[in-house]
Amino acid sequence: MTDLHPDLVRILIDQEEIQKRVKELADQISQDFKDVKRLYIIGILKGAFIFLADLTRHISVPHVVDFMALSSYGRTTKSGAVRILMDLREPIEGQHILIVEDIVDTGHTLGYLLNILEGRNPASLHTCALVKKQRDIEAAPVDYLGFEIPDVWVVGYGLDYADLYRTLPYVAELKSEVYSD
Ligand code: 5GP
Repeated sequence: MTDLHPDLVRILIDQEEIQKRVKELADQISQDFKDVKRLYIIGILKGAFIFLADLTRHISVPHVVDFMALSSYGRTTKSGAVRILMDLREPIEGQHILIVEDIVDTGHTLGYLLNILEGRNPASLHTCALVKKQRDIEAAPVDYLGFEIPDVWVVGYGLDYADLYRTLPYVAELKSEVYSD
């Protein structure tokens, strides 16, 4: 039985489910990229670091890992307000790219990133996310998705609130009083 942190409402995805799904995603990715000599995996900091670490250790095709850090000016911002805080170490022209994100909400951040990276002429560009919120609007395309979740604030397994809760082993709903006071 996993002990629930007192700031949480409920666990949405437990440790065992996450580990099982991460392995499935890695197997699918390894199968789909079996003919690629070098898969260039881009983890989006900070949230994706735990998911990325588990996922990449199950990926059996040759791959390299790099990171980008992005900052958005707020969840309600509609247009263009995403900044690159840290960029890739190499040009990606002609490379097979897999972006690994923690969470897709509106898809605005991922859509922005796809635009930027497409402009650098990779050989292919795919996306993987641990969770995606269920929404009516069309979000950016996620090729490899772990789980769909309801539209609540989630933390754990890399996901934070004010940089806390990232190392919880599960994904859980945060109590609203924690972020409203
Ligand atoms: P989007 O651009 O897809 O609307 O959301 C982008 C960012 O908002 C995510 O990369 C993440 O940083 C943050 N975000 C959105 N919903 C959640 C959530 O429920 N929990 C956490 N920890 N971050 C979220």
